[in-house]
Amino acid sequence: MKLLQDKTAIITGAARGIGKSIALKFAEQGCNVAFTDLAIDDNAKETERALLEMGVKAKAYASDASSYEDTHKVVDEIMKEFGQVDILVNNAGITKDTLLMRMSEEQWDLVINVNLKSVFNFTKAVQRIMLKQRSGSIINMSSVVGLNGNAGQTNYSASKAGIIGFTKSVAKEFGSRGIRSNAIAPGFIITEMTGKLPEDVRKQWESQIPLRRGGTPDDVADACVFLGSEMSSYITGQVLSVDGGM
Ligand code: NAD
Repeated sequence: MKLLQDKTAIITGAARGIGKSIALKFAEQGCNVAFTDLAIDDNAKETERALLEMGVKAKAYASDASSYEDTHKVVDEIMKEFGQVDILVNNAGITKDTLLMRMSEEQWDLVINVNLKSVFNFTKAVQRIMLKQRSGSIINMSSVVGLNGNAGQTNYSASKAGIIGFTKSVAKEFGSRGIRSNAIAPGFIITEMTGKLPEDVRKQWESQIPLRRGGTPDDVADACVFLGSEMSSYITGQVLSVDGGM
């Protein structure tokens, strides 16, 4: 029996990177996948094709996770098409790094809206569905930076720390209704987001990690499979670090 057989998941920002790996690992476990990204570009089409090839139901949706209106619209469309939502993975995220001294209001607002408000938007939109089902698993992508802070990332770390408070509160509000809510705090994961870093910076990061390597998107996706499945049925309100021991 596969771990997520016949479940349906919504994953935000899954055209590439960590979100894409989560989508593929979920499909491997028999999960139907509705995923969003800003546009249905070549990445999104390729992810959708790969999922369909795995024999699950899958569809890509263009939707801006930071928009309350867009989010409610897309969740309605997904419900019409899939009929249920068992797992929500709030994965969409961006960085606009700079020291606080140079940070504009726009850079602050953008990161808070895409990273944190999106989690509110999607949780709010799926809550009535999960309440009716009396079950559901919500997985929010935080970061090691949300736990520890990082120079040059005040906006990003605030958004990721905010996600942790939100996750724990949702766990308390919905626990009695069979809905679980957990966060994942990835460390240094090698994707396009971190691929922009210069080689020497990347090497320096890696030398500080006890397991001596950057993480892979699959490392994070495996943790999502665990939190999405019944393997974690007594776990809620937690932050699972996937960071090689950082
Ligand atoms: P990525 O940039 O490779 O992928 C992010 C995806 O989100 C992209 O496809 C992008 O188009 C999409 N996206 C951006 N804004 C969106 C919006 N408003 N609505 C919908 N989709 C949107 O990044 P990644 O490295 O795969 O990161 C995924 C998540 O993991 C993010 O939340 C990130 O903060 C978090 N994270 C990443 C790392 C890392 O080392 N890569 C570490 C900790 C946490």
